Amino acid sequence: MKTILKTNTTVKDICEGFVYNELEGKGLFGLAGKLTIQPEYQRNYIYALDGGKREMAVIESVLKGYPIGLIYLNKANESNFEVLDGQQRITSLGRFVTDKFAIKDENGMEQYFGGMAKDKKDKILETKLLIYECEGTESQIKEWFKTINIAGVPLVPQELLNAIYSGPFVTLGKEEFSNSQNANIQKWSAYIKGSANRQAFFERALDWVNKGNIDDYMSIHRNDKNINELKRYFNSVIDWVSSVFTDVESEMCGLEWGRLYEQYHKKSYDPKKVSAEVRKLYGDPYIKNRKGIFEFVLGGSSDTKLLEVRIFDEATKKAVYATQTVKAEKKGESNCSHCAIGHDANKAKIWSLSDMDADHVSAWSKGGKSDIKNCEMLCKTHNRAKGNR
Ligand SMILES: [Zn+2]
Repeated sequence: MKTILKTNTTVKDICEGFVYNELEGKGLFGLAGKLTIQPEYQRNYIYALDGGKREMAVIESVLKGYPIGLIYLNKANESNFEVLDGQQRITSLGRFVTDKFAIKDENGMEQYFGGMAKDKKDKILETKLLIYECEGTESQIKEWFKTINIAGVPLVPQELLNAIYSGPFVTLGKEEFSNSQNANIQKWSAYIKGSANRQAFFERALDWVNKGNIDDYMSIHRNDKNINELKRYFNSVIDWVSSVFTDVESEMCGLEWGRLYEQYHKKSYDPKKVSAEVRKLYGDPYIKNRKGIFEFVLGGSSDTKLLEVRIFDEATKKAVYATQTVKAEKKGESNCSHCAIGHDANKAKIWSLSDMDADHVSAWSKGGKSDIKNCEMLCKTHNRAKGNR
C-alpha cells in the first residue's frame, strides 16, 4: 500500500460541496464531489449523539488551533477519494459550516457558523488538515482499516508529530536536534540510540523534558519562538551523565537517562569511585545485564536485580539437591535446612527438586560465587524469603 502525507488541504477544501443526509444520518460528499465521506464499511455519524458534545469539540479544537488528528483517505481512482479514517471529524466540520449545529460561545450563547465574525469563520475555513492519501487494493485497504480500528490510537513516530505540530518550535527544534552537522551529535550518540535525521535526538529531548509526554509538550509550545527550556534540560541530562560516568561504555547507549537524571541528579558522586566501581562490575563474569550496571551504581550498589546475576546451572542444582537429600533422609529431617530448624509440619518434609531453588550461601553482593561450593537448595518459600543472590 502506498501512502502520501498531504499537509495543505484546508477545512474549506474538504467541506466544498458537503452534503449531509438527515434521513440516513450520513455525511456524503466533500472535496467538491471528489470525496465520498462514508463508504459502505464505515459506521454512521455518531458525533451528533449525546447532545452533540463530540461534534462541538471538533469545532472548538479547530478554533483553539489544536490539531484534530490524522485523516486517512483512500485514493479510489485518479479523481476520487473515500474516507478510511476521519469520517466523524469531517462530517462534524461539514455539518458546522452548513449550519446544521451550533457551538456555545464564551458567554454560553449558541453560535452558528453563519452568524460568526469573519475572522473566526476564516480561522476555521483556513485550518489545514493532515491527510494521508493511501493507495492499495480493496483487500489491502480493508485489512488495514480493520487494523487501525482494532489498534485504536497507533503509536506516532516523531516525524509524524513534527508534521502535526509544525510551526516555529518544531523548526527550531529540528535545527538543533535533527541536524547531522551539529558538532554535539557524536557526544549525544554515546547515550542516545538512533540518528539525527530520523529525529532520535529531538524525540529524546522532548521525552526527557516532559517526562515522556511528547505530544502535550509539542502542543503547548507549538508557537514558541525559542527552544531554550528544551535545550537547557537536554544539556543538563547529558552533562550530568558524562560527569558522573567519565568512561563511555557501549551499554550506556539507549538507557533511560532522563528518568535516571530525575531520580539521581541531586545525589553527589565521586567520579573516580564511580569509575572504579563500574570497572569492577564490568569484570565480574556473573553479571548478565551490563546495561543495569549504571543504575545499580547510581542507586548505591544495592539493587542486584538490575544486574541479573548469573545463577546456578542445572547440573550444579541437581548435584547439590542429591547430596542434601541423602543427608536429610538419614537424619530424618527436611532437605531444606530452614524447614528443618522450624517447628511446623514441614520440619521433616523432603521436597522434590522442582519445589526447591538454588541459593547463594554467601551472597553474590558480598563476593559469593555461583559455584557448587556456594550453592544450597532451599524450598521455594524459604528461598524467596532469603531473597539475596
Ligand atoms: Zn524450607
